[in-house]
Amino acid sequence: MRENKVVYGLIGYGGMGRWHTEILSNVPEAVIGGIYDIKEEKREEAKEKGFFVYETEEAMLADPDIDVVLIATPNDCHKPIAIRAMHAGKNVISEKPVTLSSTDLLEMENAAKETGKLLTVHQNRRWDDDFLIIKKLVEEQKLGHVFRIESRVHGSRGIPGDWRKEKVHGGGMVLDWGVHLLDQILYMYGDRKIETVYASLTNVTNQEVDDGFTAILTFEGGTEVLVEVGTNNYISLPRWYVLGEDGTAVIRDWQLNGEIIRKTGRTEETVVPVKTAAGLTKTMAPRREDTIVKEDLPKVSGDIADFHRNVVAVIRDGAEPEIKLFQVMRVMKLMEAIFRSAETNQVIEFQDQV
Ligand code: NAD
Repeated sequence: MRENKVVYGLIGYGGMGRWHTEILSNVPEAVIGGIYDIKEEKREEAKEKGFFVYETEEAMLADPDIDVVLIATPNDCHKPIAIRAMHAGKNVISEKPVTLSSTDLLEMENAAKETGKLLTVHQNRRWDDDFLIIKKLVEEQKLGHVFRIESRVHGSRGIPGDWRKEKVHGGGMVLDWGVHLLDQILYMYGDRKIETVYASLTNVTNQEVDDGFTAILTFEGGTEVLVEVGTNNYISLPRWYVLGEDGTAVIRDWQLNGEIIRKTGRTEETVVPVKTAAGLTKTMAPRREDTIVKEDLPKVSGDIADFHRNVVAVIRDGAEPEIKLFQVMRVMKLMEAIFRSAETNQVIEFQDQV
């Protein structure tokens, strides 16, 4: 601790490492004590930005000034670095996904227990505005009983970068984007049990790891959730599509374009059929205008710096971590069920422990 500020040591100064330095500049209770990257050019870049740079990981872990090590390296490096850091007496924040399997996560959890150190994970998309809007709609039952949620992210550029394309580094889209989308759903539904999981993976641009997936989760109480990541989608489907008994909500894009349509309670005695090429249909006919009402999406906004503010509060004041290990484990087991379902083409009975 330096003048009551929590001192961060950042390992990995790539895209996300640089982003963390920006986020942390909005958290006055935290300070970056130094940075380490395995590549010399990255260490040089960090020096040029004015950061103190360690020449080795050991040097950072041996520095008594560092309170918390923030790991922003490729996915396969999180576990060994986290375990070394905790044994060196440091608290740890790992980037997502925390590691590659539930067995690996158990080892990390054991190290946290043995050392008494904080281990948490940067599940920053819990603070995304689009997610917070949907969470509010569901919690306030704005649409009545929600029976289906579809959460999608679609792009057309394939898997980005280098290590994300390789299995050995924990590449693929389930571990990259899936971990965010699944964490959001499990966080929103808290203690509601998942009963079954069915999933398929895509390998359009990459044969080694999945370049996209679709997973269908059924929750007790009857809600079905579809989670999908696509990287070869030249037309994107909406980011969120939520169906309740009393209405529907859509968020189309990252700019939060979308709306809610709800029924007013007025009924139509005589439905005018719509004419399609091959005949008439009442089922698919548009509704009479006074039977529905269009509303704006609620305004909710998150602040991603709250993640680091929480870490500071945990270390300084013993607060509860926002991202808890049992939640991280549940998402990890869900990702394993997704891989198992895709491999066997079977519906998996999910042994949910909530
Ligand atoms: P990147 O390739 O841009 O950067 C990784 C950096 O780690 C590189 O500079 C590399 O030299 C360094 N590195 C590799 N092995 C190392 C080691 N053993 N010790 C020290 N440095 C090492 O990757 P990225 O996009 O920044 O992703 C890094 C992590 O951040 C991944 O786990 C990724 O999933 C996560 N991430 C999270 C979000 C989010 O929204 N939470 C977004 C992007 C990436």
